[in-house]
Amino acid sequence: MQKLKHVEEQRGVGRAQILEAIRKAGNIARIDIAKETRVSPATVTAITSELMETGLIEEIVPDEPRQKAKRGRPRVALKIRGDAFPVAGVKVARETLSTMIVDFAGKELANHEYTLTNPSMTPEELAEEILRALLMTSQKAGMELSDISAIGVGLAGLIDAPRSFVHWSPSLDRRNVDIGETFEKVFHCPVLVENDANLVAKAEQLFGHGRNLSNFIVITIEHGVGMGIVIDDKIYRGTRGTGAEFGHAKVQFEGALCQCGQRGCLEAYVGDYALLREANAVIAGEPLTDLTTLWKMAQSGNPLANAVFERAGKMFAMGLANVVNIFDPELIILAGGRAAFDHLDLKEVKREMRAHMIAIDVEPTEVIAHQWGDEMWAKGAAAYALDGVAASKIRELAKNAS
Ligand SMILES: [Zn+2]
Repeated sequence: MQKLKHVEEQRGVGRAQILEAIRKAGNIARIDIAKETRVSPATVTAITSELMETGLIEEIVPDEPRQKAKRGRPRVALKIRGDAFPVAGVKVARETLSTMIVDFAGKELANHEYTLTNPSMTPEELAEEILRALLMTSQKAGMELSDISAIGVGLAGLIDAPRSFVHWSPSLDRRNVDIGETFEKVFHCPVLVENDANLVAKAEQLFGHGRNLSNFIVITIEHGVGMGIVIDDKIYRGTRGTGAEFGHAKVQFEGALCQCGQRGCLEAYVGDYALLREANAVIAGEPLTDLTTLWKMAQSGNPLANAVFERAGKMFAMGLANVVNIFDPELIILAGGRAAFDHLDLKEVKREMRAHMIAIDVEPTEVIAHQWGDEMWAKGAAAYALDGVAASKIRELAKNAS
């Protein structure tokens, strides 16, 4: 064990670790938790009984295959108590709010798609719209909004999540908003605000391809290019909420003009607008206004259209190689609801990426694509709320113990 200053502090770390181990495993016996977390079996027993009292976990008798089951009493395992603390997730997009309510085990209870009238609102308007959307969602789930233990909200933009502070978001009509304060006035439970790419990373960690990984990276291509970084099981946010801006990683000196005002950003080569801009610069005739048309031209063998996608693929591969060279993750997940990844030849992108990667004689970082619908963003927001509930219950335990 690491040397920690205080026994109770050590206990707190142990509680979080053990809860995480149970969530990861689905169901797991106490003795296996001890092995997994390297916390002593006696401490595991003490902590798991605390967590059971709080209602976060419960005992089950696993159905082991008959031939494996030992004679006598079957081994008792622990699992997350699903009906304990339902939470809600909200993904704020330009035209919609996607919402979802999940139980504490992450099982979906209801989801809802709410139409926004205004893409850019005052903080108070945004809170009211979220309230209306969640009232409808909780009705679908057959519960009261007051049954919800925490709400996770995903916003595009530059978010300082630990402070619930928005430096800038396209959904708000002003900069520098203490959104936590606004939400506190409207909702009775904790509201956790997070950058939307980090929500995807959280959902992949709890329910998706990152489930058994400690170090992985999620890259999203939606309107912009986003990134979520998981290091040692935690989301890495930088110090001011402006980290992981993969879209503005530079891939070309004095290159193409980006929406951010700078030149040579990755987004200025792989974003929708960038592909169309490039296509219209090289292909004569009526200006192209949508990517699908350009994609169809490429598919039917137009060499200029193909060249546009090829160049975007090469730039994207260079960006990916930079990520691998800096972070050396176990896995990179290309996630998102839009078809942007479809337009890039993933096999070719991976080949090109490897050509730019530091070469060693072990298997390179794996890259996979994971297509997501809007409701999965909301699930990510809910996942973040689950984490928030777990953290606050663990804090309560620590407080009661001291
Ligand atoms: Zn940029």
